[in-house]
Amino acid sequence: MCGVPGGEERPGASRGVALPAIRSSPAIVLRSWAYGESDKIVSFLTRDFGKIRGIAKGAKRSRKRFLNVLEPFTLVQLRFHERPNSPLAFVHACDWVYVFRAIARDLGKIAHASYLVEITDELTRDGDDSLSLFEHLRSGLRFLEENAASPEFLTAFELMLLRLAGFQPILEQCQRCGRAPGGDDDRWNVRWGFSPADGGVLCRDCRDYRREAVPLSSGALDTLIHIQRHGWTEGEAPAALQPALREARGVMPLFIQYQISKKLKSAAFLDGPFR
Ligand SMILES: [Zn+2]
Repeated sequence: MCGVPGGEERPGASRGVALPAIRSSPAIVLRSWAYGESDKIVSFLTRDFGKIRGIAKGAKRSRKRFLNVLEPFTLVQLRFHERPNSPLAFVHACDWVYVFRAIARDLGKIAHASYLVEITDELTRDGDDSLSLFEHLRSGLRFLEENAASPEFLTAFELMLLRLAGFQPILEQCQRCGRAPGGDDDRWNVRWGFSPADGGVLCRDCRDYRREAVPLSSGALDTLIHIQRHGWTEGEAPAALQPALREARGVMPLFIQYQISKKLKSAAFLDGPFR
């Protein structure tokens, strides 16, 4: 999959005809919806050109041309050209590269993949570094294809996505007084506050200034800091960390919703500690 070429071609250039450049890139389908009688609008995260919204003519009526390739999470080779004065590109072709079949067969995996796709879509702006965002989403989907979702996986995915998209929460010092976490005797009873409006955490002395700050134990904060620094590649998290990860699940979607100023639709379908 990594070797799939991207690039640009100008079909009429040699004959002196001013035709729009046809661009080509690996892409992940984020969403698609019907448009009029026979067309579909599709949102893609491309490897080489960022996020592209395009119109797939005839995709609703003639299924041959875009057979099963416009479903969310599908990895495709997209060929398109941009149209002057239109926010929608014209989709020439979408060739199937990889379908995450294990995800498509499992409602729980679909719910988690929908969450990964929705937060990536919402936090990504045109012009962002598309290669790292594309690789991040693809590796997240690949993980879900082969593994069950876990709180540590979701938290690591969110924290890395927030960093790549420029929304990294500040966890390593109080956003009001600058105090650093750590050194507390009772890690599970010392309460910090997580405040989306302040862009990170508030210490126990400062969190009362922000009533809506979500309480967070020192232990949970340490766990978030560890995942933010190192990701999560060690496999299953030790049982001792599960309470911290459950706390982390309570704050990450809130932080993302604050950044995008709206509710995440897919978060409602994630259960309990996975939310
Ligand atoms: Zn403070």
